[in-house]
Amino acid sequence: MNFAQSETIQKEAMEHIVGGVNSPSRSYKAVGGGAPVVMEKGNGAYLYDVDGNRYIDFLGAYGPIITGHAHPHITDAIKKAAETGVLYGTPTPHEVKFAKMIKEAIPSLDKVRFVNSGTEAVMTTIRVARAYTGRDKILKFAGCYHGHSDLVLVAAGSGPSQLGMPDSAGVPQSIAKEVITVPYNDIEAFREAIEKWGPELAAVLTEPIVGNFGIVEPLPGYLEEVKKLTHQAGALLIFDEVITAFRFMYGGAQNLLGVTPDLTALGKIIGGGLPIGAYGGKKEIMEKVAPLGPAYQAGTMAGNPASMLSGIACLEVLQQEGVYEQLDQLGALLEAGILDAAAKYNIPISINRLKGALTVYFTKEKVINYNQAESTDGELFARFFKQILHHGINLAPSKYEAWFLTTAHTKEDIEETIKAVELSFEHL
Ligand code: PMP
Repeated sequence: MNFAQSETIQKEAMEHIVGGVNSPSRSYKAVGGGAPVVMEKGNGAYLYDVDGNRYIDFLGAYGPIITGHAHPHITDAIKKAAETGVLYGTPTPHEVKFAKMIKEAIPSLDKVRFVNSGTEAVMTTIRVARAYTGRDKILKFAGCYHGHSDLVLVAAGSGPSQLGMPDSAGVPQSIAKEVITVPYNDIEAFREAIEKWGPELAAVLTEPIVGNFGIVEPLPGYLEEVKKLTHQAGALLIFDEVITAFRFMYGGAQNLLGVTPDLTALGKIIGGGLPIGAYGGKKEIMEKVAPLGPAYQAGTMAGNPASMLSGIACLEVLQQEGVYEQLDQLGALLEAGILDAAAKYNIPISINRLKGALTVYFTKEKVINYNQAESTDGELFARFFKQILHHGINLAPSKYEAWFLTTAHTKEDIEETIKAVELSFEHL
């Protein structure tokens, strides 16, 4: 494969865009550097780069693209938005229709509010929880990413206090100390933290199924216990479903697990590829939000017609019969093929898969928490990533990011992918 054009454009990008990328996860820093491939066109399961190379895409733009690129139904909706004006700064019928659709899909939402990104959605659920409880602290789980607002860019602190440490320059220590961080899937650690900090906690924030150090499901009974202890402490439970909603079934992961939160943050898939976020929850909590209540949140672009129409169209595609069954079947086929290839070439991997999303970890261990994901073999992954890219498969340049299937992937695409995995493993 030739990447000459990608390299030229990236060189120019480095002069004008900080780091050459508009989100750090797009850089190849974590896989040993080099110019990231510059994509020009997407169609169905495929992306095409500026050198004319074709890739089967499993990045799915980090989650939003579940119907494949340029899905005709979503494209039509976006065209309609372009033709009728993309922003009015007034209420529209589209946002009402879309709010109803989302509420029907996720029954724990009595009221919703649209924003522009997952970051905004999570950030605002925290503000609303603080407004409702009159408390300041939040508890989150180590390794879980909830966007780039100050409060959630906090990592596990060292030592027994469990108070957070800033995970980014520019996040004040005074903010980090409002955040308690505990390991995921460890109910004893959670119980200890609740005993110590419970009365000060406004909220416990978690993904119901982790998507950010790979796909990691809660252990049986874990989330139920988290919910019980959270409520006993007088705190609210917030689910960040930015990755998980509409990923595994039509609705939230909360529907799948049967555990409902007080507040939910949404994003990614619900925009059909256009910028979006949303949050919602119980009526009496959401009524704390302006203009009804004292918790302020606003947005010039919030609920814009283009994102609403694109989101409605995306959910309409996902309502079709058999969509999630197909994602599951192709996911199972891919998982089995990768495991066979690993056995053949003696590559130490383990896979976490749920329906059409899976993570290949370069370790023999079953991964259930962040420490395990973090200690998988990054050097081996980096070599695999470069190999498989040259065989026309586009993945995230991260050792524990998920592979996302879309409704556009076919059995033939999966078979071609398995061949590429075999060739890559052979050369590791
Ligand atoms: N929450 C989760 C679980 C996410 O995965 C992400 C993005 N990867 C966010 C929040 C932030 O969303 P956005 O990038 O749209 O701000």
